[in-house]
Amino acid sequence: MQFIFLVKKMIEQTLVILKPDALVRGITGKVIDRLESKGLKLVASKMMMLNEEVLKQHYSHLVDKPFFGGLVEYMTSAPVIVQVWEGKEATSVVRLMAGVTNPRQAQPGTIRGDFAIDIPKNVIHASENYEIAKQEIARFFNDSEIYSYKRIDEDMLYE
Ligand code: UDP
Ligand code: MG
Repeated sequence: MQFIFLVKKMIEQTLVILKPDALVRGITGKVIDRLESKGLKLVASKMMMLNEEVLKQHYSHLVDKPFFGGLVEYMTSAPVIVQVWEGKEATSVVRLMAGVTNPRQAQPGTIRGDFAIDIPKNVIHASENYEIAKQEIARFFNDSEIYSYKRIDEDMLYE
């Protein structure tokens, strides 16, 4: 009983944004397939157009950078798909799967390493850490938009 509690405690939710290049290039399915195959669970998903106001919040650490204007232009150039993924240590798992920011330096096998070549067009946003993930999820989703269900392979995926 106590063991089950410990495993459950490490189950996190994290925010992913499939960025405009993922939609325009038709590779959203490939990215989602990787996250599903890993054993992560999609618990919320919606398509939207981002705007400068929300990007100033979401990328508040970058507002003063010279590339911020270009970043806004890119992130508002087409719709995005905003998602919440759930799993054991999901935030660090998705960050690792995304790869580093500059896709030319991202390892082959990562999403950015395999599908992108130049910033800012690096296909996916993934929350930096668990605290930030909680803030980012709240920015885009109400509690009622985040679902709870059991994956059929859950007992096999988890020890
Ligand atoms: N970005 C950019 N130039 C930079 C750094 C970042 O265009 O020098 C863009 C890129 O799309 C990146 C996003 O801004 O994914 C957010 O930057 P951050 O440093 O938070 O990187 P991330 O967490 O996405 O890896
Ligand atoms: Mg970041």
